[in-house]
Amino acid sequence: MNLILFGPPAAGKGTQAKRLVERRSLTQLSTGDMLRAARSSGSPLGKKVAAIMDGGKLVSDRIVVDLIEERLAACMGCAGFVFDGFPRTLAQAKSLDGLMARYGQSVDVVIRLEVDEEALIARISQRFTAEGRADDNPEAFLIRLHAYKAQTAPLIPYYSEQSKLVGIDGMADVDRVSAQISAVLDQHEHRKMVGAAG
Ligand code: AMP
Repeated sequence: MNLILFGPPAAGKGTQAKRLVERRSLTQLSTGDMLRAARSSGSPLGKKVAAIMDGGKLVSDRIVVDLIEERLAACMGCAGFVFDGFPRTLAQAKSLDGLMARYGQSVDVVIRLEVDEEALIARISQRFTAEGRADDNPEAFLIRLHAYKAQTAPLIPYYSEQSKLVGIDGMADVDRVSAQISAVLDQHEHRKMVGAAG
């Protein structure tokens, strides 16, 4: 089972991805976490992306696709992947399709966490106070939201046309959101089993 957690920044993708890792033994692939790790290690890649990330803009498709490719290649025996914060552009989505096909896999489900913009802004100001992430400051966050609308939202029709997109109420509390995701995945697995049996 390979799924994408899709949604604007602060929709709750990271929190839900971690729960899926614990509960379904999936491997989380978060490009945001990978880039932050590169920064903390002081690597040339980390130095290259630092200012772009702090400004709230997207790093290049090439960089994130390379990071994902490396992880996929290293984990071919994994039970499945939960992509978190990737893909974020149409080019990334197409590259992911190509990479998955190379390993005889595909994206099964895209779960879209739907959250009001006002709620996102409230969440982000709380997270900024709690964690102090530079790109959670109000100016950078508005740029991230803009990047989501302009570059990432076009993935909604892309996955919807492939009948892979499922919307979830991301305004509900964390447990309720997890339960909704779980129901979608159970249903998907059930359909797959019935299909295979028939
Ligand atoms: P995130 O933790 O997913 O919100 O990502 C933090 C920042 O890392 C983003 O604002 C971007 O600057 C960068 N980033 C993470 N994932 C991607 C991606 N798939 N494409 C481009 N930039 C990304």
